[in-house]
Amino acid sequence: MEKICVAVRVRPSSREGSGNAFQWKIENNCVSLHGVHNTPISGMSFAFDHVFDQDCSNGTVYELLIKNIIRSAVEGFNGTAFAYGQTSSGKTFTMNGTENDPGIIHRAVKDIFANIQQTFDREFLIRVSYMEIYNEDIIDLFAVENQKLQIHESLERGVFVAGLREEIVNSDDQVLNLIQLGEASRHFGDTNMNARSSRSHTIFRMVIESNQKDTNSSKGSSSDDAIRVSVLNLVDLAGSERVAKTQAGGVRLKEGKHINKSLMALGNVINKLSEDGKLRGHIPYRDSKLTRILQPALGGNAKTSIICTVAPEQAHIEETKGTLQFASRAKRITNCVQVNEILTDAALLKRQKLEIEELRRKLQGSHAGVLELEILKLRNDMLKYELEREKLATALEEERRSHKEHDQCIREQYMKIDNLSNLVSLSDSEKGSFQNDVTICLQDGSMDSHSMSQQKGSSTPCYKAAPNVFVAKRSQYLTQSEFSPLPDTCSNFADEDTWMKMNKGFIVDLDSLHMTPARKVQSFPSSEDLSTDNYSQEIQNLQRQLNLVVEERDEFKRKYAEQVSFNNQVTREVSELQREILHIREFPQNLCELVTNCKDIYKDVFSILQDFIADERSAAAQILSTTSEVGLCLFSNLEFHLSTFADGKGPSPTIDYLSVQEQCSVLCKRLNSTISKLVIPDGSTLKDEHTTGSLISRTVKLNTLGEQIAYWKEAVENEVATVKQKYNDLENERDICNKLLEISEGKYQSLEREFHLLKEDKEALLQRILNLSQMLELVTGQKDNAFQDLKTEVRRRKNLEEEIRLFSIAFAGRQRSLNSFHGDFKALLDTMKSSLSKPR
Ligand code: ADP
Ligand code: MG
Repeated sequence: MEKICVAVRVRPSSREGSGNAFQWKIENNCVSLHGVHNTPISGMSFAFDHVFDQDCSNGTVYELLIKNIIRSAVEGFNGTAFAYGQTSSGKTFTMNGTENDPGIIHRAVKDIFANIQQTFDREFLIRVSYMEIYNEDIIDLFAVENQKLQIHESLERGVFVAGLREEIVNSDDQVLNLIQLGEASRHFGDTNMNARSSRSHTIFRMVIESNQKDTNSSKGSSSDDAIRVSVLNLVDLAGSERVAKTQAGGVRLKEGKHINKSLMALGNVINKLSEDGKLRGHIPYRDSKLTRILQPALGGNAKTSIICTVAPEQAHIEETKGTLQFASRAKRITNCVQVNEILTDAALLKRQKLEIEELRRKLQGSHAGVLELEILKLRNDMLKYELEREKLATALEEERRSHKEHDQCIREQYMKIDNLSNLVSLSDSEKGSFQNDVTICLQDGSMDSHSMSQQKGSSTPCYKAAPNVFVAKRSQYLTQSEFSPLPDTCSNFADEDTWMKMNKGFIVDLDSLHMTPARKVQSFPSSEDLSTDNYSQEIQNLQRQLNLVVEERDEFKRKYAEQVSFNNQVTREVSELQREILHIREFPQNLCELVTNCKDIYKDVFSILQDFIADERSAAAQILSTTSEVGLCLFSNLEFHLSTFADGKGPSPTIDYLSVQEQCSVLCKRLNSTISKLVIPDGSTLKDEHTTGSLISRTVKLNTLGEQIAYWKEAVENEVATVKQKYNDLENERDICNKLLEISEGKYQSLEREFHLLKEDKEALLQRILNLSQMLELVTGQKDNAFQDLKTEVRRRKNLEEEIRLFSIAFAGRQRSLNSFHGDFKALLDTMKSSLSKPR
């Protein structure tokens, strides 16, 4: 039995009140009201465990009032600390503190982790939650969307807030950050923060679970395998002034609308609990959410400290009196605190063995009546175990069924994967550059699972030790929704007396706890039809299929490379043809240039010839100039045609030809007329010409004029024919060029078309490859998931089998020891009976 620890803290006065008639004085953990002339007012003196004056820091309050609770919480005892007092008396200052002087919550969090660091033989799992009770609604400060949460009670969990978020934490900084976030959401929820905070309670809760680190090294301690669960509540209550006034004035109902129901119920509960145990009636814990949640802390199984904060000003005397009266009543409450344990089967068995040993010892020196009672108790226990075993067997059966369903699910998943694989293997198109990724994926398959499992292990919070089954198991267990346990021992009694009655039998209480919830999650039935071999065979099948898919993808890749090289070749050919076309297009231009050159040479030759002829009016000179003109005209004509052809807009060859012939005839006529003009003049002209150049002399040598004309005509005709011939040759050549050009252009266009088609094909192929790769990725992802599921499944099954095996061994051992004890005991009884029946 342990009294609640109550302290009063007086905050610094807001005004220097020298003119105050009444003043609160603090002396040796006593606080008393003094009137004028410093005279103490009777009935206004209160003594508490601690009274802190205005100079006292949060650090001192923590050291003297809370530190002890925190240490005990780490050892497995429930703990609660709350601040009670009127608005602005310093509750929040005490609980939250300031940056320079951190409050109780901050210090407690730091201290818990420091204590854990010091506890080398146990491993811990810490969960935190933060809630606000405002107008009788419970609001989750870690998840603001969780409003109006309900309180539930069950035999296994005790009283708990359903749906409250609990965060698993592993460092003080993490907790403090979470609190900050919680505070932020509290501010976010309401605009008038002060008004709200004076009417709302905040409960910061830490659940500390621990178990012995190395069970093998333990030497017969009865609770080595037990899991300790303790709950620590740090509460900042709403302002108490209304309650104080209401209770003083007795107009509770009138203010019912505004009064904080929880705080009123707290006052009532404290009142009831402070009464004499025998007179005390029903304790109204259920009247409010706050008292329901704090039930174990008030008259139950928790080490509790209350800090009553008061304001020293004269204006607040009534409220301060109310607070001090509340504190005095609270001082009278006693709690019965004990470590909360959840017993595993092994721990229970160990404890049982010790009890048997104890009984054996007792047997040797006590009388038969007591022994018979003990035997009866043991038999009852045995029956209980039998019942429990049956219960477990049924649960096992149920889980086997669910396992089969799960297997069915996995098979369906495999079928899905198979379908997808078939889809991939049926596809006849190429695969892209994603091969490497996939191959790496496949190769790393086994490694991945390994590293994954390692990651999983390391993500579980654990202190000072490698990840171990306890922490993992408890964390897993905690993922169940709505789990916010309070130890059973705290919740199934209505008041102190009932609690006392229930706690007389130590084992009875623990029995109600020993069904560890972890079993619920862990158990998964072993299936005899489906063995691990089947799974590994299926995995191998899947891997084979994947290999096939990869081979096909290689094939696609090869084809793709071929296609690319073909494309390149075609592109090369096209560019060669383009070059040729350019060449052909340049040909007429070149011809044109050639003709111009010839024309220039021709001009030069004639100008030289004309230089030889002295008389410009001589017949030879005239013929020469006419011939030169004719030639130049023909050259110009040729030039013109070639240039128009080179420009690609020349007239049709037939029309050209006609025009040339016409021109020719015109030229012939002109030549003839020139010659005939030359024939008419006297021979003197001819004589003069006799001395000139070789050509003329040759002409002069001719005997007759007719011969001369015929000669010149022939010469001109020959020349015209040559030019014509040349022109025809050029025309033919041009036609050939044209044809070639046409063919080339046709070929070029068809190649271009082909090239475009190939380009489109290539793009389509690339798209297809992309799609296939995505599909492959998807399939690979699904397969990975399936592998993971399988592995988890196999692991879970192994765990379960191990559990069943351990349980069977334990049970067999238990039965053996009981049987042997029974035999021993019978033998002893027989001996005793025979010794009693012997005549003295
Ligand atoms: P409550 O939470 O009870 O309404 P607060 O904690 O908000 O009151 O305190 C009201 C004001 O008084 C705050 O400004 C706070 O800083 C100041 N205060 C309260 N207690 C102390 C103290 N012990 N020392 C210094 N300042 C204090
Ligand atoms: Mg406050």
